[in-house]
Amino acid sequence: MSTIVPARHQRPLPLDQIIRRDPPGAEAIETDVVIVGAGPAGLACAIELTRLAKQEAESGGGPGELNIAVLEKAGALGEHNLSGAVVNPRAFHELFPDLNSSDIPFRQPVAGEAVYFMTEGRAQRIPTPPTMHNAGFYTASICEIVRWMGERAEQAGVNLFAGFPVAALLVEGDAVRGVRTTPSGLDRDRQPTADYGEPTDVTAKVTVIAEGTRGLLSQGWRQWQQVRSPNPQIFALGVKEVWQTPKPLNAVIHTLGWPLPDDAFGGSFMYPMGPDQIALGLVVGLDYHDASLDVHELLQRMKLHPLFRPYLEGGEVLEWGAKTIPEGGYHALPERRSGDGVLLVGDAVGFVDVPSLKGIHYAMQSGMYAARAAFAALKQGDLSAVRLSAYDRLVDESYIVADMYRTRNMRLAFKDGLYVGGFKAGLMTISGGRLFGGRMEMPEDAAAPRRVTEAEPFTPDGKLTFGKLDAVFKSGNATRDTIPSHLLVGPDASAEVAEFYSHVCPAGVYERVGDELRVNAPNCIDCKATDVLGPRWTAREGGSGPKYRAM
Ligand SMILES: Cc1cc2nc3c(=O)[nH]c(=O)nc-3n(C[C@H](O)[C@H](O)[C@H](O)COP(=O)(O)OP(=O)(O)OC[C@H]3O[C@@H](n4cnc5c(N)ncnc54)[C@H](O)[C@@H]3O)c2cc1C
Ligand code: SF4
Repeated sequence: MSTIVPARHQRPLPLDQIIRRDPPGAEAIETDVVIVGAGPAGLACAIELTRLAKQEAESGGGPGELNIAVLEKAGALGEHNLSGAVVNPRAFHELFPDLNSSDIPFRQPVAGEAVYFMTEGRAQRIPTPPTMHNAGFYTASICEIVRWMGERAEQAGVNLFAGFPVAALLVEGDAVRGVRTTPSGLDRDRQPTADYGEPTDVTAKVTVIAEGTRGLLSQGWRQWQQVRSPNPQIFALGVKEVWQTPKPLNAVIHTLGWPLPDDAFGGSFMYPMGPDQIALGLVVGLDYHDASLDVHELLQRMKLHPLFRPYLEGGEVLEWGAKTIPEGGYHALPERRSGDGVLLVGDAVGFVDVPSLKGIHYAMQSGMYAARAAFAALKQGDLSAVRLSAYDRLVDESYIVADMYRTRNMRLAFKDGLYVGGFKAGLMTISGGRLFGGRMEMPEDAAAPRRVTEAEPFTPDGKLTFGKLDAVFKSGNATRDTIPSHLLVGPDASAEVAEFYSHVCPAGVYERVGDELRVNAPNCIDCKATDVLGPRWTAREGGSGPKYRAM
């Protein structure tokens, strides 16, 4: 049987494009702090900075009013954000001490929960593992939360620029001095059209990289500065749908087992989002072994299972989307997340606790810590790596790292398959992480060989199940057809590799046509799975990609 090792077909990171030493253009916008990415991490950072500046000004000190800019690649805030989500409100209460949970646009409190082990025709309820308890938490749409946080940031004086993807870091020596956005209005051959817009340079005393999962800039900065981690980062792909449902769901549901093969790590979730909506998704570790595994298609099959079907029948799919999740945990954290003029926060660093599938409150908390370290450094007028390393200390002493340390090997144990992994993870939970506590090594996802197998045919019915093109339509993606491809295909994309990519990508960007690979770049919804296992993702024209409203 032949195998594919994805890493052999990948291009290296285009470091010369990401790290730019040429001086900022004459028209560069000057700021104190530029934040890349308006997710929960970036917006929490911006809001906390304004709070600190106000507090200090009221006591007559401080660096004065700060010029803070947030650059976001989506055309409008929230359109590129996707989560589950069950939210731990802890970081919200710290960021907004005057607000109650009812003032925050959560959908509803978690009223009950259940975990099932699934086979093809049955679902057996199992005891909820302690890491998956969600009492006191809330279900929510991250798009709605981001829009709300954006309004609060703007009210506090932050300059939000949606539709401005950042393509590069502007550097001088070892210091980051700001960012450069992508150009817009290029044709397929990268020639300027009548709508051409030049890249914008934004200089800053501190650049905060809050770009989320599998970030281009964070990868570039780490490679350039040789910032290592004990294990490489690994990822999962989550494909999600929001449904209008005729049958209300009362509890937060998680499942293990089918439709995943035994040698893949992952599970599904179904969350109530008010009386007549549910969020439903499937998350699969990208170290799976079967080249024809297709997360989108597995989710479609899963919806026909008796556990899910009754909630969907007679209902309507409102939205579809997909995104990767950093899953490496504690051992994949970079040895530092700060440098000269730069701080990295949220998913860009990998602050996700996998057993509980939580990242939102860690992202926000890390954003607040970054704001505190940046503010202290601005006050001192010293933005050096030494001064900004205060951020690393804040994170290391916080519950973010404590939580991730406790579950440090749980995801890694599953590289041996579901049953061995489940057994080990159970013992780790009982012992508070002490059993199997030494670091388990994990190769990067692209190094895991894939068996080439024949895909099982699946025909969507157009009611409960959908093909990839219909799904992309439901993501709201209306990227113009004439955009140049932002995906860098590597060498030797054989017919087998093309077939593999067509299964990796949930949005039908890659197609095998005869023995060739066809790339339908406008379909891309920026989930970043391709960057982990296939062609490299780079930033493209602002406003391209999905237009999520309720993900
Ligand atoms: C399927 C799924 C289910 C999940 N479930 C849960 C859950 O139930 N509970 C929970 O707490 N967490 C959950 N998570 C994790 C959680 O969503 C993340 O940890 C969290 O959103 C990270 O926040 P962030 O701000 O770091 O990144 P993001 O939310 O990804 O925000 C990053 C922002 O940066 C922007 N950006 C990226 N690159 C650029 C660029 N070059 N230029 C400009 N802008 C850029 C993006 O468009 C985005 O708006 C889930 C994640 C997934 C995918
Ligand atoms: S091409 Fe786009 S949508 Fe497809 S896997 Fe890659 S990032 Fe995701």
